Amino acid sequence: MNFALSQEQKEITELARKFAQAEFPKIAIECDKQERYPKEMWQQAAELGFMGIFIPEQYGGLGLGISEHAMVTEEFWRADPGVGCILLAVFGAEIIMASGTEEQKQRWLPKVAAGEIILATAITEPNAGSDIFAQSTTAKKRGDKYILNGSKQFITNGTVADHVLVMCRTNPEEENRLKRYSFLVVDRGAPGFNAEKLHGKLGIRASDTATLSFDDVEVPAENLIGGVEGQGFKQVMHLFNINRVVAASQGVGVAQGSFDHALAYTKEREQFGSRLASFQGVQFILAEMAAKVEAARQLCRMAAWQIDNNQASPHIISIAKLVAGQNAVWVSQEAVQLLGGYGYMDEYHVERFYRDAKIVEIYEGAREIEKLTIAREILGRS
Ligand SMILES: Cc1cc2nc3c(=O)[nH]c(=O)nc-3n(C[C@H](O)[C@H](O)[C@H](O)COP(=O)(O)OP(=O)(O)OC[C@H]3O[C@@H](n4cnc5c(N)ncnc54)[C@H](O)[C@@H]3O)c2cc1C
Repeated sequence: MNFALSQEQKEITELARKFAQAEFPKIAIECDKQERYPKEMWQQAAELGFMGIFIPEQYGGLGLGISEHAMVTEEFWRADPGVGCILLAVFGAEIIMASGTEEQKQRWLPKVAAGEIILATAITEPNAGSDIFAQSTTAKKRGDKYILNGSKQFITNGTVADHVLVMCRTNPEEENRLKRYSFLVVDRGAPGFNAEKLHGKLGIRASDTATLSFDDVEVPAENLIGGVEGQGFKQVMHLFNINRVVAASQGVGVAQGSFDHALAYTKEREQFGSRLASFQGVQFILAEMAAKVEAARQLCRMAAWQIDNNQASPHIISIAKLVAGQNAVWVSQEAVQLLGGYGYMDEYHVERFYRDAKIVEIYEGAREIEKLTIAREILGRS
């Protein structure tokens, strides 16, 4: 076992920290209040190489792994979770990389890495959340096109994405339900495709979230991921493995950021003639916060390492995401508490982190779904 970061990992983490800490706080409150997607920040991040971390060099990326992508995600969310969501511009590149045809990889991956296009991945539907088999969006093959009908709910980057990877039923009659689905790439502006921004989110308000609808949308057959129908379930499971680790690292980042604010504040603020940090009651909270951040971080790194070494373990991934989500919510809540009345005000940032943290327990598999995955492993499928 070697827990030390490689030189490359140290360098990319340091670069991400410097960039995010210098830039994100300047616009964080404004983006949160106005629900503004910071496109200019996405472009700056792309110029520094952050949109191509796990994309192979032959497609214009850095050729690193999910471990490094998760480390950068952590630093971005540590500086500001909402603005940190710009890294989700690559959401879908994982499927293209793993399952796309060579032509599809060459068509989209270099543009993702260069910050020329934003992707979105649409799985959830109004009546199909945790139960992905309840999806009803359907694509029928007609000549060299698919005709897509249906709708998707809560889609990250929905109104800013140039291309959306849509999970849909291409083979609804197939006896084996695992073989009924495929992913089609729908281009922004395709006639019949509509994206409507959702307003009023609790947190990560700088992130774009939308409802999508498809009304007889014509999708070229060459946009079927992998070129073979019925592979969608396998592809989505691969995506969940990666993006649950990414979500877990978001949780580590928001927890670390909350802790940073609380630590700085308690070392400055005086009450009863002493610094808050000198009270043992406060020290115990700080110690517990630090322990929860580190525990989640190590789980996250283990799960990411397993993916990068072809040993992906869904139940370890679920443990990482469950712990990171719960710890993020707890740590950010304690940060608000430690800042007292100031913690309740937007100027001091932790109220926003507290609101942002909750999403880690909901998306990419809600907390209860992670528990079901863990339970299945420890009890066996029977
Ligand atoms: C900000 C945001 C961004 C998102 N981005 C995307 C995106 O980019 N792409 C995408 O496809 N989706 C996205 N989602 C959707 C997200 O993945 C779903 O909200 C999530 O999977 C939960 O589905 P649901 O909301 O339908 O809740 P439901 O599935 O209806 O669940 C409601 C509650 O019941 C619990 N529950 C459900 N089934 C069980 C069970 N069998 N046992 C015990 N408890 C259960 C759940 O854990 C949850 O607590 C996003 C959501 C949000 C809020």
